[in-house]
Amino acid sequence: MNVPLLDLHPQMTLFRDQILDAVTSVIDSTRYILGSEVSGFEEEVAAYCGTRFGVGVSSGTDALLVSLMALGIGPGDLVLTTPYTFFATMGSILRVGARPVFADIEPGTMNIDPGEVERILEADRAGQQRIRAMLPVHLFGQCADMGRLLQLADRYRIPVIEDAAQAIGAQFPLVEDTSVTWKRAGAMGTLGCFSFFPSKNLGGIGDGGMVVTSDAELDRILRSCRNHGAEPKYYHARIGGNFRLDPIQAVVLSIKLPHLEEWHRARRRNAGLYRELFSRAGLTDNPVVLPAEAYRDVKGADNANYHIYNQFVIRVPERDALRRFLQDNGIGCEIYYPLCLHQQACLEPLGYGSQSFPVAEQAARESLALPIFPELQQEQIAYVVDKISEFF
Ligand SMILES: *Cc1c(COP(=O)(O)O)cnc(C)c1O
Repeated sequence: MNVPLLDLHPQMTLFRDQILDAVTSVIDSTRYILGSEVSGFEEEVAAYCGTRFGVGVSSGTDALLVSLMALGIGPGDLVLTTPYTFFATMGSILRVGARPVFADIEPGTMNIDPGEVERILEADRAGQQRIRAMLPVHLFGQCADMGRLLQLADRYRIPVIEDAAQAIGAQFPLVEDTSVTWKRAGAMGTLGCFSFFPSKNLGGIGDGGMVVTSDAELDRILRSCRNHGAEPKYYHARIGGNFRLDPIQAVVLSIKLPHLEEWHRARRRNAGLYRELFSRAGLTDNPVVLPAEAYRDVKGADNANYHIYNQFVIRVPERDALRRFLQDNGIGCEIYYPLCLHQQACLEPLGYGSQSFPVAEQAARESLALPIFPELQQEQIAYVVDKISEFF
């Protein structure tokens, strides 16, 4: 049996005619930059997330970049983030001339550890006070502990940029006045960043991204930053770049957005089936550690996207041997991520490599992502678990 890590054909086939019509109408209109398609999609995403504004940009990476630019972060500034994420999280910090400061992750969710964040912010306050923002990542589709992170951001008076590239629509149980409100990823911090890279839960037919916010002033600055810092046209009080979302991507994403909830449900159903089969095979906890679902027992979780499973990441010793075995048996799987950010060669001149973040480093040695896309068949999931069983 062949089980790809991700198969985009089912969605492409389902929307092919609609997409061709919508793209054709953009082509026929000859309006190829921004316009009503982009602003319409921005409003749809903002409404979905529960923010006042959405600003369409060219990628998730550029969403992070314009967010840092809009907050005026640059040389001499530090940004607190996780060492265990996709490179773009840190790349955007370095590109504005700032430096990352890493806080190790929690072993369960593999998201940034609020205890570490507090320790580092406290030390920064007692010292140079250079940390200008917090950039947590909602890894694999589950929110970082935003309750505690927002409290700390508030206490130390720094803005929070959520890297929600893998988590559009994921929800976190925020306690407000003693009652729990399930808030969407991206809508809790100062700014929230999404990616529409084809492998994300909401994927375009190319690159795309968005920043959401409820701050009108930041919305205005973001719009200017994505368009060379112009405000109005041809007047540049600041330096931005060309970071605009393409209307062709916007119309495709508008067609797909109404189906996003149903795809989240399908991904969660697949995750549930993995759990059941792994447990039946007697593999859970040892040797296979299943992804933690940190918020599944909180009030209201039954109706909430406490995990949207952009990736279903198990942890195993002998990860590399298992990966080869699965690939030899026609099963697609991937390592997210083989190196932590502080271990990347491009940081070598900056000397981060000598730092150590033991929890993140262990995650990088043990993590393996299995197929989880919405259209995955039950037999395929059963086959994956059978093969893992056979391996052990
Ligand atoms: C995908 C991703 C990005 C970057 O998004 P692009 O659209 O590919 O530029 C940033 N951060 C994380 C955590 C991601 O997974």
